[in-house]
Amino acid sequence: MTATKDVENTMPSYDPNNIFAKILRGELPAHKVHEDDKAFAFLDIMPRAPGHTLVIPKAPARTFLDIDPDDLAHLIKVTQMIARAAVKVFDADGLTIQQFNEAAGGQVVFHLHVHVMPRKNGVPLKPPASVKEDPTILSDQALRLAAALKGK
Ligand code: AMP
Repeated sequence: MTATKDVENTMPSYDPNNIFAKILRGELPAHKVHEDDKAFAFLDIMPRAPGHTLVIPKAPARTFLDIDPDDLAHLIKVTQMIARAAVKVFDADGLTIQQFNEAAGGQVVFHLHVHVMPRKNGVPLKPPASVKEDPTILSDQALRLAAALKGK
């Protein structure tokens, strides 16, 4: 079946059954790092680097194209907060921040999200979706990031 088109009838429309929508509704678990009225951040279960965090809007946006600009501005503010905390917690030498749109752009989960990946000099990223991290490690990392965000 062809997906309904949106964004001036050029792109597929939002599917409320995507994995991140289920996380936002509490139907699937997540290692939460941050939540406010407009954004949610949680650890990627198949991290490409330790501390790999996903930042998502609560609004039902599929890609960068269909989010309200004010919600996008908030998402970017939260992404910077997470990035600053991640550098401290993971003693990072740098950061990779990525965002993919539609399958052609590398997107796999069709709810807008920004990847924040702390980087160490000389350490390559793991391939996407290659290794599922131990949940106890993710829980510990999420707690450390959340504490850093609160300035603890
Ligand atoms: P992409 O759509 O290509 O930007 O990436 C989707 C990301 O979501 C990948 O990095 C996956 O490892 C990650 N992912 C998929 N399912 C979950 C989940 N249930 N919880 C956290 N991260 C997930």
